[in-house]
Amino acid sequence: MDQPATAPLAVLTGAGRTYGSGENAVHALRDVDLELGHGELVVVLGPSGSGKTTLLNLLGGIEQATAGRVEVAGYDLGATKAHQLTEIRRDVIGFVFQFFNLIATLTARENVSVLAELTGHARDGRVEEVLAEVELTDRADHFPAQLSGGQQQRVAIARALVKSPALLLCDEPTGALDLETGRTVLDLLQRVAREQHRTVVIVTHNRAIAAMADRVVHMRSGRITEDTVVAEPLPAAEVVW
Ligand code: ADP
Ligand code: MG
Repeated sequence: MDQPATAPLAVLTGAGRTYGSGENAVHALRDVDLELGHGELVVVLGPSGSGKTTLLNLLGGIEQATAGRVEVAGYDLGATKAHQLTEIRRDVIGFVFQFFNLIATLTARENVSVLAELTGHARDGRVEEVLAEVELTDRADHFPAQLSGGQQQRVAIARALVKSPALLLCDEPTGALDLETGRTVLDLLQRVAREQHRTVVIVTHNRAIAAMADRVVHMRSGRITEDTVVAEPLPAAEVVW
């Protein structure tokens, strides 16, 4: 994906998403302007229903904007052909969800390698490499049910990282975890941004998590109400809630 290194990775311009029409229209997202730089760790904070998941789905090319423009890695997602959108999702974007979404009948290693195969990123040693990055080498042969919630989420992160995405989109990644295990997941996500220079977006309704971000985007009723740079982001290990 050829794009000048200095350009932002993602740009939303007047982006909106409306469900339904007429009286029944739901404006899930309205007039959102947002630029995400390479390697930025952004926390999107907002109450339930404020449009956080819709924003992620637009950035991830899972849903199309009904107004404005969404550009990722230099591509206008509203104007790219279906096969190209598939390619962008496959190569540029990784997703992490609240409830891990692992395949229960596959081991940790298999969950990661299936995605590597499907996306064409199964080069030699890559699966072992990401399992080591999330510190699960010794649990690679365990099934999801044999792993703690935090470990399952780390498998899910390894699965998202296996294709080396420039953009990692995390929807309430600690929503199903307690403080202790949640922190290990946040620490991992912070390292992914810092050490691998990937853009990491963490969506949450948990205000405490904002302290670890480079930048906090506040949402309410489908709009961005505040966009703040954090002067001194806290190490994730020190986040408390
Ligand atoms: P959040 O993730 O912040 O909880 P969402 O982005 O999921 O918020 O939802 C924003 C608004 O859009 C909510 O009012 C929600 O009910 C509505 N919404 C989301 N998805 C759909 C859909 N597929 N159809 C209709 N309304 C939707
Ligand atoms: Mg949501």
